[in-house]
Amino acid sequence: MTSNVYEKVKGIVGEKNISENFFELVNNAIDVFPYELDLEKDSMPFVVVKPGGAEEVSEIFKFANQENIPVYPRGSGTSFTGSARAPRKGIIVSTSRMNCIEIYPEHGFFECGPGAVVNAVDTALAKQGFFLPVYPGSKLVASMGGMMAGNTSGHIIDACIGKPADYVLGLQVVLPTGEILETGSKGLRKPAGTDLTKFFVGNDGLTGIVTRMRMRLVPARERAFGIAYFDSAESVARAVVRMYLEKAPAPLFMEFMDQATTTLGFGHAGLPIPPGCSIFFASLGLSKEIASENNQRLLEVMKKENPVRAEEITDTAEWLKIWTAREVIISSLMQKHDGHFSGPEIVSTLAKLVECIKELEHYSEKDASFEGLPYYLLGHIGALTFHPTLIVPRDWDNDKKRRIVDAEFEVEKEMNLRFGTCGGEWLQFGKRTRFFKERYGEKAFELVRQIKAIFDPKDILSRGILDGL
Ligand SMILES: Cc1cc2nc3c(=O)[nH]c(=O)nc-3n(C[C@H](O)[C@H](O)[C@H](O)COP(=O)(O)OP(=O)(O)OC[C@H]3O[C@@H](n4cnc5c(N)ncnc54)[C@H](O)[C@@H]3O)c2cc1C
Repeated sequence: MTSNVYEKVKGIVGEKNISENFFELVNNAIDVFPYELDLEKDSMPFVVVKPGGAEEVSEIFKFANQENIPVYPRGSGTSFTGSARAPRKGIIVSTSRMNCIEIYPEHGFFECGPGAVVNAVDTALAKQGFFLPVYPGSKLVASMGGMMAGNTSGHIIDACIGKPADYVLGLQVVLPTGEILETGSKGLRKPAGTDLTKFFVGNDGLTGIVTRMRMRLVPARERAFGIAYFDSAESVARAVVRMYLEKAPAPLFMEFMDQATTTLGFGHAGLPIPPGCSIFFASLGLSKEIASENNQRLLEVMKKENPVRAEEITDTAEWLKIWTAREVIISSLMQKHDGHFSGPEIVSTLAKLVECIKELEHYSEKDASFEGLPYYLLGHIGALTFHPTLIVPRDWDNDKKRRIVDAEFEVEKEMNLRFGTCGGEWLQFGKRTRFFKERYGEKAFELVRQIKAIFDPKDILSRGILDGL
């Protein structure tokens, strides 16, 4: 069978673009979880294949349907809910070759392939005075296709500029049955009424493989930066609630690090150790003056909660150092403790933000298996989102590591259910399937299954992910 799969798919994409090399198979079947997948002979992928475009993806799907072989799309494998894992023996479709970036200012949009790396798109747009409304912490490696499957804008505060779906004008998608579909418009207005684009942006990789996307060009805006230090996490939460209640302009970014995280991150970046936990933000404006005014409004709000210090950062180099301290914080924590990152995505409501942050200060007590593990609290507090972070020792055995990840998703489930929220940046199935069923009910889950079956009657695409990991 394996050689049959290899030969058939090689015939579609050419020898250079297919591999059954052991390391490449393993590398493309795993993800960022601290525990490994049990890849035995009967679950190891047949091949990793790198199609050059929609026609080749279509041929792969037609072959997979004939042979009833699962197909797993793969961007950069950085997603956090297990959806980048291949739980069944199948064909891994890496999007890495479909990485074109084409900017059309005269049409007001850009197009790119799903394998284009977020940072490469952002950099190309910036050179022409535009801005990509997407910023995951993994932007140096994450792909546009992975971002599209999650409809995630990363660190960006939804209240400021929304989600990627708001900017997607149209898609080219290959359905799991092999048909190639075009959705949307080449105009700057998204279709009113029925627009099939909706079935593929935020599709959890379940309804089709996006092979090209068109997004509206967003002119770059001026930015102004601010930071405040508080002696308690609760005060930070109160300041954020105040920001919303006092109708201060929502910033593009608003990040929080507790005192231990701030101390470590700032220390690594060679910055003076700050007096407390930190909240730092970037405001947008059409001009520098407007951005700065917006920022001043936020600082005024922060000051009402008695920070130890709150100030505008006018030195861009200083801001970049602070931002980098946050961006590399997971690596800094892993290095310090010689372990792996593990953490869920807890989303609070506005009204319960203070309660939520207080509870998360005691996160380590939520499961006996967390006891004694290094613990740090950080998150995109402007979006009411926290990543309570545990560092799992590298030398623990696989089962022990897996128990931590499972317990963390249990805590995430329990808290997000209690708050009536849901993850706003990672995907919804895999490790989150149980949450989805409890949050939205069996009927909702059944509807998702039926929608998938309309697009994918033989359950070829991402088989096993919807059922949960
Ligand atoms: C250090 C670090 C920081 C992170 N920070 C953030 C953050 O701030 N915000 C955030 O939202 N996430 C964050 N993430 C999670 C993750 O990086 C993002 O969600 C990212 O968008 C996933 O992209 P990817 O290319 O790695 O996708 P993958 O993990 O490869 O795939 C994700 C899902 O998309 C599907 N998929 C991939 N390509 C396609 C396609 N073309 N068509 C259909 N389905 C497809 C896959 O099958 C899978 O189900 C972070 C991860 C890491 C490791």
